[in-house]
Amino acid sequence: MAVIPSIGISKVHPSLKTKVDQIVSLAHRDIKENDFQLLSKIDKESIKGSKSYILKDWGTIPNAADSFGYVRVGKKSDASFSKEILSIYDKTGKLISHIFRTEGFNVKKNTYAYPSSGNRLIKFFDFVVHSSPDRKFPSPTFDNANGHWRNTASEFQIIQEESSHNNMPSSKRLLTKRINVLSSDPMKFLREFIFTRYPLTSSENKSAKQVVSAKIKDENGEKSIFDFWKKDIDSGAALNVSSNDKFLLFRFLGMNTREGLEALTRKLLKDKNLDVLNIMIYPEARFVSKNSIGHFSVWNQSIAYSPKLKEQNSLVAVNTIGHEVEHAYQYSQIGRLGKGRSSYETRAYMKLGDLKCNEVVEAIKYAEARDNYPNISDTEDLTKNIAYMTNYLEVKAREAGEKLQQEYVKANPDNYMFFDEFFR
Ligand SMILES: [Zn+2]
Repeated sequence: MAVIPSIGISKVHPSLKTKVDQIVSLAHRDIKENDFQLLSKIDKESIKGSKSYILKDWGTIPNAADSFGYVRVGKKSDASFSKEILSIYDKTGKLISHIFRTEGFNVKKNTYAYPSSGNRLIKFFDFVVHSSPDRKFPSPTFDNANGHWRNTASEFQIIQEESSHNNMPSSKRLLTKRINVLSSDPMKFLREFIFTRYPLTSSENKSAKQVVSAKIKDENGEKSIFDFWKKDIDSGAALNVSSNDKFLLFRFLGMNTREGLEALTRKLLKDKNLDVLNIMIYPEARFVSKNSIGHFSVWNQSIAYSPKLKEQNSLVAVNTIGHEVEHAYQYSQIGRLGKGRSSYETRAYMKLGDLKCNEVVEAIKYAEARDNYPNISDTEDLTKNIAYMTNYLEVKAREAGEKLQQEYVKANPDNYMFFDEFFR
């Protein structure tokens, strides 16, 4: 009999261990009591190998699965009790999923993704049986097949490496962005965001860390922050993050998420009174052409962002949002000038009325620029298209993007610096 060593997840500063296997311990935490015993264990085996019968009744195995590991633990005092953990690896040997079972029933699942080198995304799921949603895990009288997985949390982990110089050993810093799903209704947006900045591994003080947290709710499509707090535990560097920041909501949501892109776009449209025009927002639109990352369509009455935008830094995203919202504004002004050609422009006239005197000259320039807008292809390098680059609508949209980008930093530089680190 061998007792599985307990590797408490909090103790190992887990994510600094690049080998994810080392945190298998999630369900092992209570195994150190002497009552537990290891019943069986399979190290990495091919999913096509002779032991693949183990995989039979765990539900869908991910397509990328290549090998698996398995552990079964029992209690000496209770022969009917068992805990099992299935680990699934892809063909490069990276862990992609863990499924935890108690007494034969799925209770938890973690999935792991590796968006870029050193980074890891963990999604946490609880198994829910419809007839018994409040139970911690389903009792054996319920049929597993009636249940489903519910996403309860996600954690994005970034490992920053400080390059070494003068023969000093290189040092690493862990940053985690945790999102706890607070509502059991998947349609309701109610989440807790926790950003944690751990000390450099070379630092003496291993327990030092900075934590910034907020809860965010959504009411009628409008998101807002409540319950903001921060904590600085002997970090050495001052944590100057504050709630005095008009962009705080968007920094928490992140400019590399659907929610963040959509929320900031909505806010800017509202600031320009364009919310009455019901512009559609597509934060992850594959139809945006290859040579651009954002697009306002006057014909479709929509603002769309390319999935590529999420790979950029937060300032590029903010700049793009400012740019496209400006186009939405320009065309609404053309409509209010009485020169509309699309239903978007004419609706802007109906809803927002005539222009003020001091807006007319600028709106005429917009209308002229629209009339002279060059034909552009989906593949050309737009920065080389002089007619496009010098078109008044584009010049002004670029200015608006630039201005918003600067505001995003200047509104609260300490907040910008803290949150920006999480989006590298
Ligand atoms: Zn543009």
